[in-house]
Amino acid sequence: MATKSQPATRIRTCHACGRQYEYPLKGNSATRHHCEDCVEVPEHLRRVAERLFARVQTLETALKRIENKLAGN
Ligand SMILES: [Zn+2]
Repeated sequence: MATKSQPATRIRTCHACGRQYEYPLKGNSATRHHCEDCVEVPEHLRRVAERLFARVQTLETALKRIENKLAGN
């Protein structure tokens, strides 16, 4: 009865580039953490990309905080 033929696809965010992608998709090589483009990247470079992306996110959060502060005053 409870046949699970196809897992529901979800929108995921790539840990290396921040791109949003659907996972899992048939015929797509994307993994849980990386989009189909970043899956192709050698692991040591992907780790660098992940580090840089983490910094971008930190900066975006800080920028948003500043923007909200400016808009609120
Ligand atoms: Zn990616």
